[in-house]
Amino acid sequence: MVRAALLAVATLLAPLPATAQDVSKVEIRTEPVTPGLAVLFGAGGNIAVSHGADGTILVDDQYAPLTPKIEAAIAALGAPPAKWLINTHWHGDHSGGNENFGKAGAMIIAHDHVRERLAEGSVHRGGSAAPAPKQALPVLTYHDGITLHLNGDTVQVMHAPHAHTDGDSILHWKTANAFHMGDLFFHKVTLPYIDLSSGGSAYGVLAAADRVLGLADDKSVIIPGHGPLATKADLAAYRAMLAEVIAAVESAKAAGQTLAQVQAMKPAAKYEVKGGFISGDAFVAAIFNSERGHPHGVQPDRSKDIMGAHDHGAETHSH
Ligand SMILES: [Zn+2]
Ligand SMILES: [Zn+2]
Repeated sequence: MVRAALLAVATLLAPLPATAQDVSKVEIRTEPVTPGLAVLFGAGGNIAVSHGADGTILVDDQYAPLTPKIEAAIAALGAPPAKWLINTHWHGDHSGGNENFGKAGAMIIAHDHVRERLAEGSVHRGGSAAPAPKQALPVLTYHDGITLHLNGDTVQVMHAPHAHTDGDSILHWKTANAFHMGDLFFHKVTLPYIDLSSGGSAYGVLAAADRVLGLADDKSVIIPGHGPLATKADLAAYRAMLAEVIAAVESAKAAGQTLAQVQAMKPAAKYEVKGGFISGDAFVAAIFNSERGHPHGVQPDRSKDIMGAHDHGAETHSH
């Protein structure tokens, strides 16, 4: 009986999209950015389709049951099936279609930690994801970034260390003057979600916003992970909000306040989005528990995990 109950809970927490049951009702809406670049909105993370003479590059792929609709939307752009697929990070609302597109022949490209987390199976927001099948895994991975020279554009893929997760990438189409920020930017739909259990940190999200602000101009189009297309001014407002709430949490923490006390001060309340899945309190907790100053380049979270496990093991053995 206990086992049945646990199974029921496990089923509830499974990483299936909330939309899985009514996927038939999801419509993929296409919004052009430039003649060779479009965004697909559906259920899950925003998708970019970059297409031209060299082939189609897909950025993120939402949930597996939506693959046929995404393929139809790509075809409707006059573009061939995806030849390359880049994941902005490992979360299932951005990589759920990987197995389908991988089997269909797309080369999957992502940060090292995306492959590691998909291969191992990972946990976030109380749900768990089983290890992904081989065909869902990135076959080309990078640490700091990678550059694609395709369709007359230079597509710079830049790793943003320890931000929404520990495997986030920002894409910059230099000629099209466009960016895809994945879940480093939630535009108008919720307060930021910082996945601490996947190596995320509020400080990394702030640094990622600064990085794009340094590269963007007033004509840039910024594709957020969720929400409508944005401008540099929209991102600047998001960055200012982040900086303000981080500063409020930091000063209260420095004055010795507990998390509950900082939450009671409601430093993020005025930025809460109606219907957003991250509340002001959840955002404050993520900032309060964020590490700052992760050194870049040596996969620091993994070495820390190993040290942590070692310390814990030593303690267990000594008692
Ligand atoms: Zn997402
Ligand atoms: Zn995400």
